[in-house]
Amino acid sequence: MTVHIHPSVDGGVKKGTGSFAGGTLVCKCSDRPVKVAIKGDVAHNHACGCTKCWKPSGATFSVVAVVPRDNVKVTENGDKLQVVDASATIQRYACKACGTHMYGRIENTGHPFFGLDFIHPELFQEGGWAAPGFAAFVSSVLESGVQPAEMDGIRSRLKELGLEPYDCLSPPLMDAISSHVAKARKAA
Ligand SMILES: [Zn+2]
Ligand SMILES: [Zn+2]
Repeated sequence: MTVHIHPSVDGGVKKGTGSFAGGTLVCKCSDRPVKVAIKGDVAHNHACGCTKCWKPSGATFSVVAVVPRDNVKVTENGDKLQVVDASATIQRYACKACGTHMYGRIENTGHPFFGLDFIHPELFQEGGWAAPGFAAFVSSVLESGVQPAEMDGIRSRLKELGLEPYDCLSPPLMDAISSHVAKARKAA
């Protein structure tokens, strides 16, 4: 049985150039697509198994990365964007017509990841962005209909692709969150 993770990694993870200067994210609409300009390369790119991230149809995981929010600028057809769930920590701006999430923003200044926007690098019309380096929230794919018996195959395939599977975030990101919490406590 073939294990599908995400179309952009199923054929092998494509390395980034290391010098990606940024580009344009484009939604799936053929008419008046939403375009978002991104300055610079992405960071912490990873496969994500949560149920909130946008993924193309048929994908088990999303591929999602962060960029500084000041490096994100809607350049065309921004009138088509709407927030998917206003009560969510991450305000995900999606195209009303095709449903593609263009960027996710955290407005809570106390959040460990405040200042970073979440984007899906596969939407870049250019190639060469930093490759995904791990898989987060792997067990969460069970919430979107994956059967428990498929998990071994999924974790093996992720490892084979060099995407170490974690059931929350990667250790560096978990450490960043906990350090933030510790600092916030000291300051309080
Ligand atoms: Zn669209
Ligand atoms: Zn996710």
